[in-house]
Amino acid sequence: MKIGFIGLGNMGAPMAANLAKAGHEVFGYDTAEVSVEGVTQVCEASQATIDMDAVITMLPDGRILKSVYEQIVPLGKPGALFLDCSTVDMLSSKSAHQQAAEAGLLSVDAPVSGGMGGAIAGTLTFMVGSSAEAFEQVKPLLDIMGKRVVHCGEGGAGQAAKICNNMLLGISMIGTCEAFALGEKLGLDAERLFEVMSTSSGSCWSVNTYCPVPGVGPSSPADNGYKPGFAAELMLKDLRLSQNAAEQVDASTPMGLNATRIYEKFVEREGLGKDFSAMLLALAASTRGQSND
Ligand code: NAD
Repeated sequence: MKIGFIGLGNMGAPMAANLAKAGHEVFGYDTAEVSVEGVTQVCEASQATIDMDAVITMLPDGRILKSVYEQIVPLGKPGALFLDCSTVDMLSSKSAHQQAAEAGLLSVDAPVSGGMGGAIAGTLTFMVGSSAEAFEQVKPLLDIMGKRVVHCGEGGAGQAAKICNNMLLGISMIGTCEAFALGEKLGLDAERLFEVMSTSSGSCWSVNTYCPVPGVGPSSPADNGYKPGFAAELMLKDLRLSQNAAEQVDASTPMGLNATRIYEKFVEREGLGKDFSAMLLALAASTRGQSND
């Protein structure tokens, strides 16, 4: 296939490289003029759109996605596949689908989980929102870039699933950090507490796979000075998307709201540029009076 790839950042560059490695002809565009092995670099978004069988976007947010779509959708080849893998708000995602449908294009939202490591290794998880027809067409491309592909429903359903999952992740990481910080103050050894929680009803991904305590559990960013991994500000972005989505549908998400506030404070004070699991340091250093303010 001839594929245009717009947004060659931390995630987009390795994803585009994997498509090229699999034998596709890939044309990449990024405002930052990035060059990617196997990918033909072009100077305009239009050159990554006109005549392409598929156009993939991997952009920072919904505002940028909207402005890029306004530019490229009218240039799409009739019947071409427009695949957005960015994490964006529900309204932007739905409006991207609508624009594409009105122009006679097949559209898919497929945000990812798995981070840069997954993008490089081609082991991402894709959460897909699209018609059945578009899903059938996009599946072979997603199989190259990822190892798990879940068709969550119609347009926007991929973003919805991503937002729900990451809201839960933010909440569970704070809970995990609280439990370890409390355990320490109660005089517990972190290794023993890990042994208990990881095999009991407290077990979850944040404890078992991504333990925030250095030297405990499988290797994680905590063992590397909390270098991301998954940066605290990206977690905050996703938590804000969850609150924005919850407002739109009048859903009650008290823990999601609290997690958003806690990550807001953390990013503002000390968390910027650190992995989101560094929340443990903030909680361990604060007292009951401080954390309740
Ligand atoms: P990034 O900032 O590294 O990359 C975004 C790229 O888009 C940059 O290279 C930037 O120059 C480019 N860009 C910005 N405006 C543009 C425009 N108008 N036209 C063309 N290119 C433009 O971000 P990333 O880490 O690659 O993340 C991309 C998306 O994936 C985000 O929505 C993010 O939330 C999501 N995501 C990231 C991770 C992660 O671990 N990094 C994990 C899951 C999902």
